[in-house]
Amino acid sequence: MVAFLGSIIFKSKNRTDNLLKVKKMQKYICTVCGYIYDPEAGDPDSSIAPGTPFEHLPDDWVCPTCGAEKADFELYEG
Ligand SMILES: [Zn+2]
Repeated sequence: MVAFLGSIIFKSKNRTDNLLKVKKMQKYICTVCGYIYDPEAGDPDSSIAPGTPFEHLPDDWVCPTCGAEKADFELYEG
């Protein structure tokens, strides 16, 4: 009962937070090969869980397609 009520409050309270979160979850494109990192999908091959923002990827993460470093990625508007 308490948990049920709690979940309703949690839901409405976090509506704005979720919108901000979605907006912050930007896709990034590899400028070397064109691979697009989608935060919602993550990178399962590199043990990156779905929902991981590009900014939170480990510094030694590289493009799964061509091996380019994070520095070779840029914001993907699309
Ligand atoms: Zn690449």
